Amino acid sequence: MASHTMAGQVNTDSKDTLGDAEYKKREASWPLVLWYIHVYILGGYGIYVTFTTALWSTILFTALLTSLGILGVTVGVHRLWAHRTFTANTPLRVFLMLCQTLSGQGTIYSRVQAHRLHHAHFQQDEDPYYSKHSFLYAQLHGNLFKYSQQQEQLLKAVDMSDVEKDEIVMFQKRYYVLLYILINVLMPVNTPFQYFGEALSNSLFMGFWLRSLIVLNVGNLVNSAHFIWSIHKGFKPTDSNSIFIITKSFWPQYHYLLPNDYLSGEFGDYASGTGSTMIRLFAALDWVRDLHTISSEAVRRGLTEAVEHNRPIVECIKEHVQREESTRPTNHFLNRDKFM
Ligand SMILES: [Zn+2]
Repeated sequence: MASHTMAGQVNTDSKDTLGDAEYKKREASWPLVLWYIHVYILGGYGIYVTFTTALWSTILFTALLTSLGILGVTVGVHRLWAHRTFTANTPLRVFLMLCQTLSGQGTIYSRVQAHRLHHAHFQQDEDPYYSKHSFLYAQLHGNLFKYSQQQEQLLKAVDMSDVEKDEIVMFQKRYYVLLYILINVLMPVNTPFQYFGEALSNSLFMGFWLRSLIVLNVGNLVNSAHFIWSIHKGFKPTDSNSIFIITKSFWPQYHYLLPNDYLSGEFGDYASGTGSTMIRLFAALDWVRDLHTISSEAVRRGLTEAVEHNRPIVECIKEHVQREESTRPTNHFLNRDKFM
């Protein structure tokens, strides 16, 4: 409680002395701007190399590492650590941590913290990836700014206690620079050069820059995809949007209302993507447990109850989900149609 009070005081003091505009102002992060520019230019050249002089083994190896990096972001950071949609045993968490390191996008800890802030302030000015402007802001510009002082304060207030108990995440946080150099730079570049007989320049352009370019853009989509697959904020009254969550067809409306569903894909899909398949596969191996999902039936009943008794929608749906979870067979993940 004391720390909360203290944080509150710091918050108010800073706001008073700096003024509201200054407090919320985000300045460009020039190292990040230079990072993006050089990744786009050299990664772009990596595309040229791929279609001209690269060996097939290098192309396949780079494609594999790129896919693993993306899974580290989607299944790892997003569905496991940020939203806790399932639990994973230690070997799988180590694997996902290594995959996430291959994404080169900062520590799991920092990404989870930012994503939770994104959800808590979705489509408000405090959301680091929101803009009144466009998809391009969330995908690109928004990532080139430092956090405002207000966002720094809000980030500190994000509850990270569950993540702090995960020794794999904290290990990565502690040794991130070393892990980054070994896993995201040396391994992807050295392997084609040393073992496939690839030219060093090709290994660098593809193994590092092209891969970084792809993973960077796909990773940023996690926070910007709602601009593509969402209905426009002012398009319909909020009540009629809730109709869409019955079929989960409007992915952002569903995910931002009920993020705790392991089948909720990052790019507009539901239950059909690689991430969902991977989680099911590891559940069959008993490496993954406690899978949280929400049936359309529970959504329907929850919505009916919310309307009949004039109660909050999410609260009603969660009650039905809880009832449903107690009767759900343990191997429900094997039965694809049952909970669509
Ligand atoms: Zn999310």
